[in-house]
Amino acid sequence: MSMTKQEKEKLTAVLDTWVDSHREEYIQDVTALCRIRSVSGEPEGDMPFGAGCHQMLMESLRLAESYGFRTKNYDNYCGSATYGENPNGDSIGIVAHMDIVPEGNGWTYDPYEPTLSEDGKYLFGRGTADNKAPGVVGLYAMRFLQEQNIKLKNNVMLVFGLNEEKGSADMPEFLKREKAPKWSLVPDSKFPVGYAEIGFLKAKFAIGGVGDELVEISGGEATNSVPDRAYAIVSGCSVEEVRAKLGEMERISVVEDPKGVRFLATGNSQHASRPAGAVNANHVLAQALLKAQVLSGKTKEAVELLEKLTSHFYGEDFGISCEDEMSGKLTCVFTWVRKQGDRLILQPDIRYPVTADQAFLTETLPKAAKQMGLEVLEFSNNPAFHFSLDHPVVKKLIEVPREILGMPDIPPIVLAGGTYARSLPNAVSYGVTVPDRVRLFGFEKGGAHQADEYGDIPNLMRSIKVYVHTLLEIDDIVAAL
Ligand SMILES: [Zn+2]
Repeated sequence: MSMTKQEKEKLTAVLDTWVDSHREEYIQDVTALCRIRSVSGEPEGDMPFGAGCHQMLMESLRLAESYGFRTKNYDNYCGSATYGENPNGDSIGIVAHMDIVPEGNGWTYDPYEPTLSEDGKYLFGRGTADNKAPGVVGLYAMRFLQEQNIKLKNNVMLVFGLNEEKGSADMPEFLKREKAPKWSLVPDSKFPVGYAEIGFLKAKFAIGGVGDELVEISGGEATNSVPDRAYAIVSGCSVEEVRAKLGEMERISVVEDPKGVRFLATGNSQHASRPAGAVNANHVLAQALLKAQVLSGKTKEAVELLEKLTSHFYGEDFGISCEDEMSGKLTCVFTWVRKQGDRLILQPDIRYPVTADQAFLTETLPKAAKQMGLEVLEFSNNPAFHFSLDHPVVKKLIEVPREILGMPDIPPIVLAGGTYARSLPNAVSYGVTVPDRVRLFGFEKGGAHQADEYGDIPNLMRSIKVYVHTLLEIDDIVAAL
């Protein structure tokens, strides 16, 4: 909807007052939603993500209805609240996830009884940043439009997702049951806009024929970080022999074990998306096993292959190395290894740049793996996407937050992670974290998925304003898509 400068100034003033006067109510609504432990889990009866998520959905829909919005429940997979009367059901989506990760340890506050700091600026509790409070930002933007009787060409549809933290299985179910929004904003990142997300290849490989002399091997906990510890137990050799063979080798120690000799390797951990400078403990371990000459035949060959695969970080062995300016290099890190029966099971972390040739990658990798002697147990692509920075909607999504937040230089973002945006057509992540947000406890605490997670209330209030202005600014453009 196009406005004159005067109309816009008037609207800005009304909006500022409205947001200020709804602050308490906003905090109350967020608090009520954050009391629910909506960790996405296994199905229970007709509740595909368990009872916590179901309660969350009911409460979200009830809240939206209490403000007069039409709601829909998509067979308990997720729900929506809609403002507007578009005859074709065309909409702009705001897609938030109401599921959370478990609270974990180290909280100073009760994770499920949100606490407001004395100065009223920070609300502590699981979900206050990721992603319930941002969902309520969307709801309040809709409330403002409704109360001011501002009619848009498109409906505004707030979607309450319930499975983002566990793989976003809710979105395909949503798309089966609802007309996809013509454009969707996902308030699960940072302003201005996440116009691109890198891709992920999920793979699980096996190397067979591993003998009993390799009793155990284990490296890596989560697949997404370069492991700093790995160990193996080998039978049929002595600690003295092994020590003599290894000499002064760094990062490795050997000790007696009831089942043989235990090799302990240490690495230098880093997130698997930034492996430069990391030391993969799996690699150190494989090198030591070979240097100690304690394995033979197929077992030795398996560890040789492990040594080779863990020696690089950028897909060299599979011939899939690539990079682009927007998102850097493809990374392929063999972070996780175990022995199961007579097989080594390997799970790498593979991330590829946004403009990579996905058909080439998905064809080449499994082929190359087989040629190297790996059995491919699992392989799937979680595709990258990107929009042009010249896309008319994307341009607005850069412009509006810059203006409303008074941050003329904030750069558009390429996400190294994934949001709902990749599960929906024409979707990008959009806020609501404001780039200058205060980190009360540094980077170890207070953020998404961390202990003492908190919502930054002044910035959340600003986000409501950004969302209102954005809906007004992109409405015509989206209607013309
Ligand atoms: Zn999130």
